[in-house]
Amino acid sequence: MDVLPGGAVSINHVRSRFPFAPRSIWKGVPDSQWNDWHWQQRERVTTLEQLDQVVRLTDDERRAVVEADAQFHMGITPYYAALMDPEDPTCPVRLQSVPTMGELNFTAADLEDPLAEERDMPVPGITHRYPDRVLFYTTHNCPVYCRHCTRKRKVADPSSAAAKKQIEESLAYIELHTEIRDVVVSGGDPLSLSDDRLDYILGRLRAIPHVEIFRLGTRNLVTLPQRITDDLVQMLRKHQPVYVNTHFNHPRECTGEAFDAARRLADGGCVIGNQMVLLKGINDDPRTVKELNHRLLMMRIRPYYIYQCDLARGISHFRTPIETGRRIIRSLRGHTSGMAVPYFVVDAPNGGGKIPVNPDYVVRHEGKRWVLRNFAGKEFTYDEP
Ligand code: SF4
Repeated sequence: MDVLPGGAVSINHVRSRFPFAPRSIWKGVPDSQWNDWHWQQRERVTTLEQLDQVVRLTDDERRAVVEADAQFHMGITPYYAALMDPEDPTCPVRLQSVPTMGELNFTAADLEDPLAEERDMPVPGITHRYPDRVLFYTTHNCPVYCRHCTRKRKVADPSSAAAKKQIEESLAYIELHTEIRDVVVSGGDPLSLSDDRLDYILGRLRAIPHVEIFRLGTRNLVTLPQRITDDLVQMLRKHQPVYVNTHFNHPRECTGEAFDAARRLADGGCVIGNQMVLLKGINDDPRTVKELNHRLLMMRIRPYYIYQCDLARGISHFRTPIETGRRIIRSLRGHTSGMAVPYFVVDAPNGGGKIPVNPDYVVRHEGKRWVLRNFAGKEFTYDEP
């Protein structure tokens, strides 16, 4: 990394490996609009007629766009829509954003609230499950409504919006509970809020003496990187330490725009982690995950979790066997940088929380003798002194 005068850093030597997204039908749109996140929000693809202009739809997609809407709206920013392959219905970006009839296939295992987030809700808007941290819902909006979303029950639904009163009651709860040192600011996507609104919420949190850190759970780096403006980063600088957990699922999402957004956040002092969801047909193979994680590390984003796709209603077509995740971790551990190896977890139904299900490298253990297997399958003995 080159250090420039004034202490700024240049990572242009890796930046050149991240081409800008194509602009598809928006080729004629001036940069001033394309790079304006308000324009991107306003121009979202929400109807069959609009989508028809962007990709060659299959019959299944065409039916699903109409029929699945009642369950979960469609919304795709022009930026993310332009990443889709117009000819290939198995395109990973398309599968994440365009409805398919699989969404209407409900199974007996499906759950409305798969992580029991509503059950552990002492006040509306706060999930308090673990002793020292809470999940804080601030909005029901997202730039793109991901077809695999675990919070389909409330995301995109205006009746679930976090009104001012709810935000104030949530802040009051956090103020009262001195054991809370870590707040996950979530939604929907909290970057759907204006800078001023977010500044107010983060400022209130920062003023609470027992709150040490907060994390922003946002997919804007992936679906609307234009949202990461200099003004936003300046505002976040005031509230450090700020952790940002984002959600890249495929290397195709690692564009020049996403790289620049991550660069702005990292230069602004944010520590960025990625939470990938394992999705059938999108990233359920070791090569894709390795490439994704390598690209993320170049973007200064640390792969943090791989989630087993949960039991939310209407996402059974995305689920993979747990063994798929373990196989992917086995293919990474020791075969590439340890930093590119996230934890594979099952967020257990009924509020069990995140449980690691990583491969086991302990062959056996007798007294002080541990027989261990390395990444290449060779066994080694460690005798505890
Ligand atoms: S950004 Fe997150 S909360 Fe929003 S639709 Fe996608 S997965 Fe759901």
